Formats: sequence, C-alpha cells, structure tokens
Amino acid sequence: MNHNQFKVFINQIPKLDPVQKQQAITSLNQQENPILNRLAKENIQHCKCIHCDSNRIKKHGKSNGRQRFYCNQCGKSFVCTRDTAFFYQHKPEHWQVYLELMLKRESIRVCAAKIGISSVTAFNWRHRYMQATEHTFEVRLEGIIEADATYFRESQKGTKTLNRPARKRGSKASTRGLNNKDWVAVLTAMDRNHHEYDHVLQQVNGAEINKCLGGKIIDESILCSDDRPVYNKICQEHRLHHVVLKNDQIHNELFHIQNINSYQSHLKQWMLQMHGVASKNLPKYLGWVRMLAWHKYQSFSDDFLTKREKLTQHEKLFEFKLLKVQQHNF
Ligand SMILES: [Zn+2]
Repeated sequence: MNHNQFKVFINQIPKLDPVQKQQAITSLNQQENPILNRLAKENIQHCKCIHCDSNRIKKHGKSNGRQRFYCNQCGKSFVCTRDTAFFYQHKPEHWQVYLELMLKRESIRVCAAKIGISSVTAFNWRHRYMQATEHTFEVRLEGIIEADATYFRESQKGTKTLNRPARKRGSKASTRGLNNKDWVAVLTAMDRNHHEYDHVLQQVNGAEINKCLGGKIIDESILCSDDRPVYNKICQEHRLHHVVLKNDQIHNELFHIQNINSYQSHLKQWMLQMHGVASKNLPKYLGWVRMLAWHKYQSFSDDFLTKREKLTQHEKLFEFKLLKVQQHNF
C-alpha cells in the first residue's frame, strides 16, 4: 500500500462503528506474527547478505508478509525466512501455535485437528522442524563427561523396497553386537551441566567415536564410560582422563554413568511412544528429544515466572534454537 492509499485508509477509520472497530483491531493483531518479526529482527541485527556476506543490506518491502532484504553489494534480494526451517512454508499464522503443540508433545492427529490443517501437512511440518533440530547441539561438553553407546532396532518403516526380507511382527532381533545390521548404534554423551550429545554411529569403533565426539569435547576433561576399548583413541587424542566403570559400578559419588543411563532410558521410552521410528529419521528424533531436554533444564532457573511468562520464555528459546541452525538446513 502506497502513502496515498494508506492516507485514504486512515481517513475511513472514523466512519467505522464500534463493532467494526473491534474487528479491525482483532484483524490487525492477528497480522503480528512473532516468528516472522523475530526472523526480520535477526536479519537486521546480523546485517549480512546471505549471498555475499556483505553488510550493505536494506529493507526491501514485504512478500507474503515476510520481510524482504536487498543487498547493495551483489544486487540480489532475499526474504527473512531464507535458510531457516520456515522457508517456503505456508500458513505463517499457524506456525507459533504448532510449535507450542509440539512442545507439549501432542500427536500429529491432535496438532492437525486443533489447527485445522491436514494430517499430511502436520506430518511434514513436524519433520521440517525436527530436521532443524538435527544439527542443534549445545556448547561443548566439559568437566566430567559420561559416554555410552545404546542400540535401536533397525527399521525401514516407510521405505517402499526393503533391502532385506520382511520381518514378521513381534519377531526378535539377533543378539546385539558391534556392527550388527539388526541394530543401529547411537553414541550418547552428557556432562554434569546437562549438555547432551548424541550421534548415530555408522560403525562402532574408536575412529568413528573420535570423529564425531572428538570435536564436541574439551581437551583434558574426564571421561566416564563402561569398559569398552573403543574410547581409547578419543582419550589419547584429546588427553582425556578415562574412568572405566564395570558392571554399573559406582566408582564414587563423583564418577558414574547414571546420568547417561537415565538419559538413554528416556530416549528408549520416547521412541516407544512414537510407535516405531524409521532408522533414516532417527537423527531427527534424537535432535527433537535433545531440544525438549534442553527446555526442561533451562526452565529450572526461571521457576519464579508465572505459567504464561514461562511459556513465552520457552517459545523464545525454542525459536532461538531453530534460528541457530539456519546454516545447516534448507
Ligand atoms: Zn549480497
């Protein structure tokens, strides 16, 4: 709307009756989209062109309610949702409510019914947001770190052609073991500040563990694990002090792997509630559990806030975490 059109619009306002005025106010309020506002604000604060990294960007109107930016350096433009989980996503008026429902762990069917979208859309949105959480990790692990591998049954759910004979329902997998194809190994690690890390391992060996966990761990920390020799390599390379615990032995009050065992059982429970997760989607679900755990621990410090304020705080944190992964996804 140009300036003259806006002036005409403003001059019409005194002619509205009280009911119409109220409707206009409601309508104006609905246009406020906290996520789009936040994304636009982030772009202004970081002031960087996504094409050439130049800081010579300026606002360049809106397209479909999304703030557009123009770069004076390369002459290209981009919208505020670019490189985020919200890129090319329709119905922005429902994003915030959907995220709140996801935080409450509502099922896809409930999310679809409450918002008024189809189950397919609700499913796609869930996987879109989960993918955004896939590469979201906390700061590095430090101090006393507990590490342990856990196993999930291999699943080709949703795959049209199986690369193995179909299983009968309720059949048991073969015994767990290193690199057994019936199981998917996930390395989990956690420090005493509840910074969590998990990663799907292609192979269970020292090189693989060093490759994925090595970059996430502060050198010269203390690593508590069971007696697997697979941790030897990471301990040597990162000069970690290795405390080996055998058969759930509690070395003393300080050195144990109880936290990571409890995290693993939480993971297992979560996957059971999801009624089977395809192995290809496992990293996304791990990211989602990590995100929920992160919220849980963050809320400890703001217990004095009222329920509504807490929710708002959670929403903000959630958006923040989604935004942080924008380099990795979409
Ligand atoms: Zn540029």
